[in-house]
Amino acid sequence: MSAGPVLLVTGGSRGIGAAVCVAAAKAGWRVAVNYATNRDAADAVVGAIEAAGGSAIAVQGDVGSEADIQAMFAAVDAAFGRLDGLVNNAGIVGPTARIDEMSVERLERMFRINVTGSIRCAAEAVRRMSTRYGGKGGAIVNISSAAAVLGSPAQYVDYAASKGAIDTFTIGLAREVATEGIRVNAIRPGVIDTEIHASGGLPDRARDLAPTIPVQRPGTAEEVADAVLYLLSDKATYVTGAILNVSGGR
Ligand code: NAP
Repeated sequence: MSAGPVLLVTGGSRGIGAAVCVAAAKAGWRVAVNYATNRDAADAVVGAIEAAGGSAIAVQGDVGSEADIQAMFAAVDAAFGRLDGLVNNAGIVGPTARIDEMSVERLERMFRINVTGSIRCAAEAVRRMSTRYGGKGGAIVNISSAAAVLGSPAQYVDYAASKGAIDTFTIGLAREVATEGIRVNAIRPGVIDTEIHASGGLPDRARDLAPTIPVQRPGTAEEVADAVLYLLSDKATYVTGAILNVSGGR
């Protein structure tokens, strides 16, 4: 394998995460493509990267499970022996519901995956990248959502609140590790055309919402990936604690 920097993308098998993996490999990163259940999709991303001359591995792991997070980072250590970047991208929505219809189990799953999972993955990345522990520094990009500021009423306020937590976490962690060689930023995608909407029971959501978006169309996963790659890159050496809207003006 080449000696390029190493990036772990949680939820790298589909949607925004897959686009980030492909774009990162093009930019010279070696990529660990995490997935939860869809091995074929992760293998397809790895195959596309390798076909283009890049290096990648697929790594299973549910970020809602501490044991899986430990195993995922151990697999990255074993394959590459270093870590230079983390994209906390894995995230879920629930079916559209009012708050009085949401079960405790739903809320606990939402926050375990979207919030605790991201914080725990960031902690493992900090252990490997921080100059405090002999690391060479690195970059973390958290995938938030425009929902963090819109609130998603009558759709999924739990999801919106989980992304609000990601915004706050991004600011705090950026300041906590600013002298340790690690930059931490977030992206707030707007309505992006991926399978997440179908997983929330609204397969046509991206198309249906187009008239409500100032630019009158959903975004693509590749447009989000371009912003992620900027924040990971040496073009952003003075950017930390930033939250960038990639939302077509929404
Ligand atoms: P997606 O198309 O549904 O893909 C989700 C990805 O995350 C898949 O690779 C999936 O793996 C993985 N994943 C799901 N649960 C996981 C878990 N517990 N552990 C590890 N991986 C897990 O989603 P997307 O639209 O690309 O969304 C990616 C991120 O962007 C999410 O954080 C989402 O909240 C955020 N976002 C999306 C939009 C949008 O409009 N699409 C807007 C704002 C923010 P498997 O293939 O194994 O299932």
